[in-house]
Amino acid sequence: MKLNEIYAKEDGLKISFEVFPPKDGEAGHPALLSELEFLKNYKPVLVSLTWGAGGNNNNSFELIKLINEKFNLMPHFTCVCSSKETVENHLECIEHLGIENILALRGDEPKDIDVCHTDFRYANELVAFIRGRAALSVAVAGYPEGHIEAPDIKTDIINLKKKIDAGAEVIYTQLFFDNDKFFKYRELVANAGINVPVIPGIMPVLSMKQVKKMTSMAKISIPAEMMKNLEKFENSPDDMKNFGIEFALSQCSNLISNGVDAMHFYTLNKSYSVSKILDSIL
Ligand code: FAD
Repeated sequence: MKLNEIYAKEDGLKISFEVFPPKDGEAGHPALLSELEFLKNYKPVLVSLTWGAGGNNNNSFELIKLINEKFNLMPHFTCVCSSKETVENHLECIEHLGIENILALRGDEPKDIDVCHTDFRYANELVAFIRGRAALSVAVAGYPEGHIEAPDIKTDIINLKKKIDAGAEVIYTQLFFDNDKFFKYRELVANAGINVPVIPGIMPVLSMKQVKKMTSMAKISIPAEMMKNLEKFENSPDDMKNFGIEFALSQCSNLISNGVDAMHFYTLNKSYSVSKILDSIL
């Protein structure tokens, strides 16, 4: 089912899950599929699979096939350093599998690349390219606290609008821990004349290391009270996991009371925390 149909439905909370190709390649596929099998109980509207983030795509296509057999899969795709020909080939391959949706991203330039093509400079160019030749529905990324390279949030939203004007139909946000940032963002996006669903990204934290990594790569503020707990549970994985569930659950409840009817969970390839949250809110 295509993005516009999914999010036009008024039938309760729409849940989606993000996973990434396991670092150990195909050896890790069974474990990931079993986590996803468990999450299937929560009837996700789609599952999204990252592309290339922090690694390579050697085992991605096989995984695209496997997940697509069981879920409405929305693969991510980054265009940085790709030629039009590479993008074209990739689009043909995924359409051949019957995939209907794609998350179109610029991505970040890999450190170990020999040739960096400049056919696509920004994600809006990729969105236009996809919409110009394929029947795929296109989603894009949004940043409630602004993208790390953007001088300010206003400029970032002007650039976000270029992606929507090029034909993107849904915005999935970067994870955030301060709901007020999301509410403000939603307002700024609407004021910019962007009239597509903005789906909040929720990540139940599992470790301090992971939070530090994420916040070093993106603008994500950590509320003072949350930081106190992260420090308190830094060396106690079970307590940290429980805190992550509790915190994300309170975020979700607050989002729902403020009219949010769709959420995208950054699962980190684990089902436990997300399932506990969904047991409480569904
Ligand atoms: P763009 O929308 O192109 O924006 C990049 C920067 O350029 C922004 O600062 C923007 O303001 C500016 N800009 C945009 N358009 C223009 C323009 N026309 N002129 C001038 N400036 C412009 N990374 C991966 O490698 N793989 C993934 O699978 C992946 N999935 C993600 C999923 C989500 C939901 C999110 C939020 C991020 C994801 N990322 C992923 C990270 C993403 O690739 C990086 O944040 C990247 O730096 C920006 O990609 P983008 O598509 O947002 O870029």
